[in-house]
Amino acid sequence: MLLLDGKATAQALRQELAQETARLAEQYGRTPHLAVVLVGDDPASQIYVRNKEKACADAGIRSTAHRVEAEIGQAALESLVSGLNADPDIDGILVQAPLPRGLNLLDVQSLVDPAKDVDGFHPVSVGRLSIGLPSLPPCTPAGVMFLLEKYGIPCSGRKAVVVGRSNIVGKPMALMLTKADATVTVCHSRTRNLADECRQADILVAAIGRAKMITADMVKPGAVVMDVGMNRDESGLCGDVDFASVKEVASAITPVPGGIGPMTIAMLLKNTVQAYLWRMGA
Ligand code: NDP
Repeated sequence: MLLLDGKATAQALRQELAQETARLAEQYGRTPHLAVVLVGDDPASQIYVRNKEKACADAGIRSTAHRVEAEIGQAALESLVSGLNADPDIDGILVQAPLPRGLNLLDVQSLVDPAKDVDGFHPVSVGRLSIGLPSLPPCTPAGVMFLLEKYGIPCSGRKAVVVGRSNIVGKPMALMLTKADATVTVCHSRTRNLADECRQADILVAAIGRAKMITADMVKPGAVVMDVGMNRDESGLCGDVDFASVKEVASAITPVPGGIGPMTIAMLLKNTVQAYLWRMGA
């Protein structure tokens, strides 16, 4: 069984990006710049934003966090995002989800200039991805694809099953696997015989949000298993895959932690550098 090491792969990519940003800063006279909007004081969001700031700093990307109070109101939040759109010094904009009650996330995300949409959640980014035009891809499924590619795992002609159909993971994951010439099935909470569907998969992606739900009997021997889930149970942080049993049947598997999580942050940095390159006309 091959352990797909997202931590090491992300670390290597971050180092490459650091070298690239140092070279770009010399060439264009400034470093890529990410703006992060954090509304309210959700403790998990604060940790995520701090991790993103640190990852940016390590990769030579400037980041500015705009921390605003939960009571900011939709209009003022939208005007903050509009200001960042218009700011020529900003390459990427990220609005940290979830937003406090009373604020509409999709409305705010839809206001971000698609050229600065490093989360890849803007409807234009989603549309461009779906018809194969250049776009900034959503970071988590992009991280899954990057890891597959790094380990030389082919998708073409293989059967992929994605469990989960969220806008941020499951749906774009299915689009990317389709683009990579896999034959894709998307499963969700209304799927009948989930285990049967999963057992068809050469590549199984779990993006469900249910601790250890994918068990060994749901996995075809020799399948590649990508675990996007981030859950907490009595044993601590765990994925949607029952790692202990599934590793005995899979040919390759991502751990949690240390799998898709670190890849997601690395893809955010990659998108920020891409957005910067577009702005520089490169
Ligand atoms: P959502 O809750 O938005 O979507 C979950 C999906 O799983 C839905 O499509 C839902 O179906 C489906 N589902 C739920 N229960 C079942 C079931 N019993 N059988 C089959 N399908 C089911 O979650 P996200 O996509 O946002 O996240 C999924 C997981 O990935 C979470 O654990 C999250 O924490 C993690 N995550 C990790 C990231 C990372 O960086 N590693 C980034 C983003 C998310 P339906 O549509 O019918 O409701």
